[in-house]
Amino acid sequence: MGDEPHEYGFDTLQIHAGARPDPATGARQTPIYQTTAYVFKDVDHAASLFNLQEVGFIYSRLTNPTVAVLAERIAALETGEGAVCCSSGHAAQIMALFPLMGPGRNIVAATRLYGGTVTQFSQTIKRFGWSCKFVDFDDHGAVKDAIDEDTRAVFCESIANPGGSITDLDAIGKIADEAGIPMIVDNTSATPYLCRPIEHGATLVVHSTTKYLTGNGTVTGGAIVDSGEFDWSASDRFPSLSQPEPAYHGLKFHETFGHLAFTFHSIAVGLRDLGMTMNPQGAHYTLLGIETLSLRMDRHVENAIKVAKWLETHPAVNAVTYAGLESSPYASVAKRICPRGAGALFTIELKGGYDACVKLVDSLELFSLVANLGDARSLVIHSASTTHRQLTAEQQEAAGAAPNVVRLSIGIEDPDDLIADLDQALAKAASV
Ligand SMILES: *Cc1c(COP(=O)(O)O)cnc(C)c1O
Repeated sequence: MGDEPHEYGFDTLQIHAGARPDPATGARQTPIYQTTAYVFKDVDHAASLFNLQEVGFIYSRLTNPTVAVLAERIAALETGEGAVCCSSGHAAQIMALFPLMGPGRNIVAATRLYGGTVTQFSQTIKRFGWSCKFVDFDDHGAVKDAIDEDTRAVFCESIANPGGSITDLDAIGKIADEAGIPMIVDNTSATPYLCRPIEHGATLVVHSTTKYLTGNGTVTGGAIVDSGEFDWSASDRFPSLSQPEPAYHGLKFHETFGHLAFTFHSIAVGLRDLGMTMNPQGAHYTLLGIETLSLRMDRHVENAIKVAKWLETHPAVNAVTYAGLESSPYASVAKRICPRGAGALFTIELKGGYDACVKLVDSLELFSLVANLGDARSLVIHSASTTHRQLTAEQQEAAGAAPNVVRLSIGIEDPDDLIADLDQALAKAASV
């Protein structure tokens, strides 16, 4: 006692990490630095900033003081060494892969992912010469077998879309570690309050800050957090980080920046050349939201348990996938990976099939039909006809988005009102 430095808890960090009273004005809330560029003291100062010999602000495509506070806060909440914010969750995924990949390289990703991620990984990344092998991440042997000498990362969600299943990050992290490649975890649906993937072996954590971190459905954004623990120089597989980087006058990022190599590369090369930048106004909304993250997540989880338990006994419902239910096959792994709760995202399978699902979604009044999740409001989507529409029938089934399934994102309203709304809509759905 006394000698150990006191470490702030999560509730304190979500309000204070990264922020300090504004040095110019004393403003207590982080100002929105609505500026494109920053005045250099002189030419020498400018040169040292461009050479990364001195850290400072140059141009807002790279860094901005408001966005920097958010990045530092998310890094602290995820127990990472550094973080970079960008324009959306999908941008974060490309930014995470960018320093690791090259033509002919692949990733091994889970079948159960956000629908847009399946499309990004199965179609769009091919244009960069990258590819993805999709594997059931409950089958650890299959994950191991899928990794080959061109694999540069494994990718999964902690609480996975759309069914809210839980990935055994400890097991997957060990496989990635043995293969000498990083595990990238999309922690959007869990948030660092429910799950901290770095503690389970993740090298990189990606977020769509659009969802729970902002929590109010106002802005899109993304973040990539680096654990700082991966040895990029242990093999010749990550030349952008370990070898002279031609896109930055031959700088060796790992040798020069150590634990912050990935973060510096993501700013100096990633944001500079891909330009998927978060704007300060967007960072401001997310900073406001993140201050109440733990309070909201506790309520999301409490409501999800109540609603899922009620749905489980409803005669029109065949199955509820919520990992927070004792009946879930993920119940025990959930307690290890997300000890504070299994999130608020799950699917229900209706006995009445596709038509009943459509009727349910159309009859709900309080739940909003939107392609979003992690809002303070309760949301519903019929994945097969919307977010997972671009997928084949097999991909939909593997993703947990079959036509007889509806996804719910439980908000922080009065849970009795959510149950009443589901009750009236299920009655209508049962009559089709
Ligand atoms: C929404 C979402 C994304 C994509 O994020 P955007 O901010 O919409 O680009 C990626 N992964 C998960 C789990 C998501 O929920």
